[in-house]
Amino acid sequence: SYSTSAAIEEPLTPSVKVDYTQLLINGKFVDSASGKTFPTLDPRTGNVIAHVAEGDSEDVDRAVAAARKAFDEGPWPKMTAYERSRILLRFADLLEKHNDEVATLETWDNGKPYEQAAKIEIPMVVRFFRYYAGWADKIHGLTVPADGEHHVQILHEPFGVAGQIIPWNFPLLMFAWKVAPALACGNTIVLKTAEQTPLSALYVAKLFLEAGLPPGVLNIISGFGPTAGAALSSHMDVDKLAFTGSTETGKIVLQLAAKSNLKPVTLELGGKSPFIVCEDADVEKAAELAHFALFFNQGQCCCAGSRTFVHERIYDQFLEKAKALAVNRVVGDPFKAGIQQGPQPYLAPPLLASCADTSLLNQIDTEQFEKILRYIRLGVDSGATLETGGERFGSTGYYVQPTVFSNVQDDMLIAKEEIFGPVQSILKFKDLGDVVRRANTTRYGLAAGVFTQNIDTANTLTRALRAGTVWVNCFDVFDAAIPFGGYKMSGQGREKGIYGLNSYLQVKAVVTPLKNPSW
Ligand code: NAD
Repeated sequence: SYSTSAAIEEPLTPSVKVDYTQLLINGKFVDSASGKTFPTLDPRTGNVIAHVAEGDSEDVDRAVAAARKAFDEGPWPKMTAYERSRILLRFADLLEKHNDEVATLETWDNGKPYEQAAKIEIPMVVRFFRYYAGWADKIHGLTVPADGEHHVQILHEPFGVAGQIIPWNFPLLMFAWKVAPALACGNTIVLKTAEQTPLSALYVAKLFLEAGLPPGVLNIISGFGPTAGAALSSHMDVDKLAFTGSTETGKIVLQLAAKSNLKPVTLELGGKSPFIVCEDADVEKAAELAHFALFFNQGQCCCAGSRTFVHERIYDQFLEKAKALAVNRVVGDPFKAGIQQGPQPYLAPPLLASCADTSLLNQIDTEQFEKILRYIRLGVDSGATLETGGERFGSTGYYVQPTVFSNVQDDMLIAKEEIFGPVQSILKFKDLGDVVRRANTTRYGLAAGVFTQNIDTANTLTRALRAGTVWVNCFDVFDAAIPFGGYKMSGQGREKGIYGLNSYLQVKAVVTPLKNPSW
């Protein structure tokens, strides 16, 4: 049985004030040019948390102009790399000090368990900024031994103005993956947050100003995708674009970049990652890890292990364990201690209608909660066995019961498309050849999990799987130094680690004749 829905009928009152709801442009919090606002909702209740300034193309223009000036006239790229590094470190210290307030905003706006935000995510964001602060003064060029009598230097320079668009599932972590490397390399930024979760980025923007970040270096626009996001993607004065979100929107953004000024684009998109449990696996541990791989963050991870392949010999035993874990998952108000799963974020239809240009919204399903329930019905209709869950949890807010399907077949939509919710699909396999072929039969290639005690099996699978990350006997390990990104339609380019710097650096070759080559 699920934990009592009483936990969600009397939601706890968050102990933080929402002080920052305007756009951040040129170092100041300002209203949108249109004066319009939109409500951001508490997914525990559907109630309005705050009204936030709704940025549109005019605001994007203002923000890009501020970022352009801060880049072209300084001070940011003209500061020493050490000074830039120190500002990033000061910001990390301030964020660490305000960890609990930021985690509270994150939970309130997004619905994720407070303990997860406060103990895992915000500390990870801090670590991220410290990691890239460390790189700021270690970005070197090269000298090249070219043929002929020339001195050849390769300079690594910032791009200029970086446009960045992020999703709602890890609002501040996605902010960090984008902002930290861009600033470390000396770029200036206009970032658009997701319309579901604008609050935490605005709060930390204040901390950036306190840390001494000059005006215009980081500008933040709250607003909708088809208006503010599209304006940023197609802006002629944005030099580089970085996007995280769905594959469908990634395609739109890439087209907008191509049709405007051909700005280079990095994309972190969706996934349908296989989690493979081999016959030699410790079933108990494998089931726990597979559960974590799927249900973590309400199932809203781009790299969620959303196709659980289990060897036929241990399938029944695994299924029992997987089902028990889902049944016992603690769902409820994410502010309460011990809660493992909160509500899914929700953008109510009237809110969608408030977006100025609704023509593109139909292409993209923003109503996460409805979408998950629709996929569950599709799973049942296509003949998969619903082992547990399958319904809304409680009657208040946007909670979904932890759901497990068995007998899932490769051609069912629940095995092919990204559900982005707490729905585990368990598939049976016979041998390694079979599972490799099936695991790779997807348009995605973000991540994969391999659970085995056999080093040869692990080596075979890790090499054969077409994915940007393969976790062996672990999952969702996200160190700042480990690169992350997708094969196939899961993305272009890499974020994090040393690879994350490349996305924010231009390469300039400088060739000078040598007067006295023999010296
Ligand atoms: P989404 O594509 O709907 O939205 C992402 C962002 O794009 C939002 O800020 C949104 O406002 C903006 N956007 C929407 N339409 C736009 C347009 N026409 N032009 C410009 N911008 C536009 O995605 P979502 O539903 O918010 O996020 C979930 C998706 O993100 C999932 O598919 C998930 O897999 C993916 N994701 C990927 C990663 C990764 O690193 N690969 C990480 C997190 C989430």
